[in-house]
Amino acid sequence: ETVTSRLAGFHKLPMEERLAQLARMFRLTPEELQQLRGNESLEPVLANQMIENAVGTFSLPLGLGLNMQVNGRDYLVPMAVEEPSVVAAVSFAAKIVREAGGFTAEADDSMMIGQVQVTRYGDPTVASERILEHKEQILALANSFHPSMVARGGGARDVEVRVLPAPEGPRGEPLLVVHILIDTQEAMGANLINTVAEGVAPLIEQITGGKVYLRILSNLADRRLARAMCRIPLAQLADFKMPGEEIAEGIAQASRFAQADPYRAATHNKGVMNGIDSVAIATGQDWRAIEAGAHAFACRRGQYRPLSTWHLEEGHLVGRIELPMALGTVGGPIKVHPGVQMSLKLMRTTSVRELAMVFAAVGLAQNFAALRALGSVGIQKGHMALHARCVAVTAGARGHWVEKIANLLVKAGHVKVEKARELLASLPP
Ligand code: NDP
Repeated sequence: ETVTSRLAGFHKLPMEERLAQLARMFRLTPEELQQLRGNESLEPVLANQMIENAVGTFSLPLGLGLNMQVNGRDYLVPMAVEEPSVVAAVSFAAKIVREAGGFTAEADDSMMIGQVQVTRYGDPTVASERILEHKEQILALANSFHPSMVARGGGARDVEVRVLPAPEGPRGEPLLVVHILIDTQEAMGANLINTVAEGVAPLIEQITGGKVYLRILSNLADRRLARAMCRIPLAQLADFKMPGEEIAEGIAQASRFAQADPYRAATHNKGVMNGIDSVAIATGQDWRAIEAGAHAFACRRGQYRPLSTWHLEEGHLVGRIELPMALGTVGGPIKVHPGVQMSLKLMRTTSVRELAMVFAAVGLAQNFAALRALGSVGIQKGHMALHARCVAVTAGARGHWVEKIANLLVKAGHVKVEKARELLASLPP
């Protein structure tokens, strides 16, 4: 079978049949299948090498986001997440977008920022000028710490100086911050950047006569953005017995709300990150770094704003997302964790930029699914049906009873653990 993300009926199959389908599609070995099942995805020995004081491993469900098409290519999106409805939402949204031609996306080069904080430098203008005069020397020193990165086409590219007002007011020394811009290629780059930032600090002290304190990367990776967009004909949005225009209007109104109000923008972006974090965890990314970058970027103009926007344009609903995407296909746990290797195999991305484009599209898909429901019938109806299964398990239901109790809860319009217990107790023994 050729790889397609359009796996009709996949969600209705028993898990073993889903795995069999994947095994055929990707020619998976029995060991790889076992890894997907998760039973042996991270051995205790490895866990013990990864972090300190390890006492075991911790599991999350792994699901596949379906129907995803970005720049004309199909992607099965591995998502590790505990929250019901995230995988369904991405798959559902991607299906609609796919019918409208799929997502288009792009991503910047892997340009990361290393920061060096300089103090007691004297006059800020003089110090800034001196640093910039020595730019080539700083870049050469920076690159000497990582010749292999230069050999692969990456490395330190530029030096910038920022003078920031003292937080304690005009009587404090302004902050002098040197940025080293480094292309980290296929790596997220944190370790490499930190090495470079620490490495060039003595030279910066020498140039400015000042004293350096912090030397570390910035997670506001705004030189490494990913963008995705989609364009859906209004007619295609018709649902809930409403015309497409009305659904689209609800989504555009939701977008306006988030642009004007940080209280709404926070929740809007939480939804975006539902999708992005899930695929980040499944593919071994530092999702705290992605989160930090996303929220700082959302606030870059002084007010916290949505990472994605929606508006109506010539009979279409147009969605756009842009956010920092500091990902890696090497480094960190990526080559260590066998589950991560499996996820990347399913993704079939061949570069970190391609991965970033899919991440952006997943964020936009997740957001579309949420706003479509929020701007029309509300999310509780769909969400509760999925949440009901979790409630049934919490109440003690197991096996085929989970689905049955969940259905009864939804039918009763009362998705509560108490109600589930009551239903369980009323079952024949
Ligand atoms: P690594 O330290 O594992 O470095 C990646 C290394 O992979 C590179 O330095 C390079 O080493 C090698 N490599 C092989 N092939 C390539 C390629 N094609 N492109 C680029 N590098 C390649 O990982 P990172 O530096 O990416 O650091 C990521 C980790 O740092 C994450 O796990 C994160 O949790 C952690 N971290 C995050 C921080 C933050 O976000 N604030 C702070 C500190 C750490 P070589 O050239 O020698 O082959």
